[in-house]
Amino acid sequence: TAMLKIQNLTATVDDGNKTIIKDLSLTVPAGEVHAIMGPNGAGKSTLSYVLTGRDGYDVTDGSVTLDGEDLLEMEPEERAAAGLFLSFQYPLEIPGVPTLTFLRTAMNAQRKARGEDEVSAPDFMKRAREIAKSLKIAPEMLRRPLNVGFSGGEKKRMEIFQMMMLEPSFLVMDETDSGLDVDALRIVADGVNALRAPDRGMLIITHYQRLLDYIVPDQVHVLAGGKIAASGEADFAKTLEKEGYDAYV
Ligand code: ADP
Ligand code: MG
Ligand code: MG
Repeated sequence: TAMLKIQNLTATVDDGNKTIIKDLSLTVPAGEVHAIMGPNGAGKSTLSYVLTGRDGYDVTDGSVTLDGEDLLEMEPEERAAAGLFLSFQYPLEIPGVPTLTFLRTAMNAQRKARGEDEVSAPDFMKRAREIAKSLKIAPEMLRRPLNVGFSGGEKKRMEIFQMMMLEPSFLVMDETDSGLDVDALRIVADGVNALRAPDRGMLIITHYQRLLDYIVPDQVHVLAGGKIAASGEADFAKTLEKEGYDAYV
């Protein structure tokens, strides 16, 4: 049961000179998809970086737990191994490392953290081929270095591929819809919807309501003034798109 629980979180950037997240509380129960919307510069990306433990983002107060485990005590790799997956607006390129090699390493780290055996080469390949086929990814793409020279649509497809292979317990998507055409948006939405499960939680960060036509969230939150300023059900996203965020800043 992947429940994310953020309590009274305060976080700074720029060596502690700027407080971006202020007393933010948010709970995402297992099985639910929550969306975070908000004006540019509100701190949406900062929140996702704090959750994944990126350098330069410091927590000065509050707590974050995943399944009751203290996330803030873990190294970024430990968080990933615990099943936290962050999907970026601009996916990482990893020159020199074939996509499948990268993924198998990540998968085995995750398995090790769960006390499971390493995946066997044939099992891994079988699974990779099946999932790649379902996403219409050509097998030779999987032998190329991750994301290097991939088009925007290919990067998105590859990201969904990674998610489906790794089966994260908690998924954070930070504006992964930015600049996508409708076809690529569908790939992302179909992938995310396929991953909806009773034991998996998701946080979808987006500046636009559009993605939420395809991924219908259980809750929509506004991040403004460093905290969750308002929350509502799926329709709330449409209201926000129409009326903007002026009422919350
Ligand atoms: P959003 O994703 O909601 O657009 P961000 O989290 O990217 O907002 O940024 C929130 C604020 O924090 C912005 O004012 C941004 O300039 C500032 N900020 C983010 N990261 C840093 C950093 N590493 N150093 C200084 N300021 C930063
Ligand atoms: Mg921004
Ligand atoms: Mg952002």
